[in-house]
Amino acid sequence: MSAQIDIELTRQALASSTLSHGLGILGDRWTVQVLMGTFMGLKRFEQWQQQLGLPRSTLAERLRSLSAIGLLRARPYQDRPLRHAYHATAKTLALYPQVLMIWNWEKRWGQSDVGLPEALNHRRCGHKSTPTLACQACGGDADIPRMGLRLKPVPALLKFKPRLGRAPRIPVGSTPHVSLGLRVDRWNLLIVTAVVLGCHHFDQLSQVLGIGPSVLARRLEGMVESGLLRCDADRRDGRRRLYRLTPASRDLLGYIVCLSHWAGVHQFQQPSSIVPTHECGHEFKPLVVCSHCRQPLLAHEVAPQYAPTDTRSVAPKGHTARSDMAAA
Ligand SMILES: [Zn+2]
Ligand SMILES: [Zn+2]
Repeated sequence: MSAQIDIELTRQALASSTLSHGLGILGDRWTVQVLMGTFMGLKRFEQWQQQLGLPRSTLAERLRSLSAIGLLRARPYQDRPLRHAYHATAKTLALYPQVLMIWNWEKRWGQSDVGLPEALNHRRCGHKSTPTLACQACGGDADIPRMGLRLKPVPALLKFKPRLGRAPRIPVGSTPHVSLGLRVDRWNLLIVTAVVLGCHHFDQLSQVLGIGPSVLARRLEGMVESGLLRCDADRRDGRRRLYRLTPASRDLLGYIVCLSHWAGVHQFQQPSSIVPTHECGHEFKPLVVCSHCRQPLLAHEVAPQYAPTDTRSVAPKGHTARSDMAAA
């Protein structure tokens, strides 16, 4: 990465990125967990509350806001018409590649006690599958060394301020079941993206993200502690620190590009200001394929497999993501 970066261009590109705006909608941990619950077969208020252990008012607020943007559809129970079950919509299903990328990341880098499926079976080829990020144009693998990035701020998105408030503080261990993504929130993802774009120094990160020094210092310290960044002394200037990606944060690429793509296509109908290109020469659009047969992984063709001893398994037996998809 070049030390010469255009701070103002990078600032505008980050501020108008579909990533930043998408994270304004889906970047907080509870929202992500409620959505993951949908893909794991949860439909009723009590199921989410029991599995996620979040306060009733918080859950009610998340279900309301996800319904308002068309990510859940409330339908009355047949037996109790005054109560509602929450179903996935077509817009939710379009988030499936991102859900697979979360699963992948959690499997490699998250806590072991997360209540996620132990394995994913691809019905189409009959094999265990590791979701793999690929390029829609050529089908080839995609990771940071195979990608380039062009910056092109999007005026329509620059006008809106993304809703990037402070994420609620959730003590580790407070979510007994689907406790995923505890180390990853929207600011961390934006900081990782800024580092990918070549901002390695404290002052560069502060300027392009508009984060004040004390808050940024705490953030960076936390990310170094949790293995999302490496902090080295700058060889050219010993007083300065260089922040670099780690294998764990490099692995967030799939999550970042899938969320950016979804937000651009399904939420904002705008191109992203951070345009990834693939080594094949085409603009990169993500596809999540099966590691075994290289076919795209579709929700109704993937059967999650839970550990037999895991009595806290989120999806009851015979109730997989497939039955959820049929209802959507
Ligand atoms: Zn390609
Ligand atoms: Zn397969």
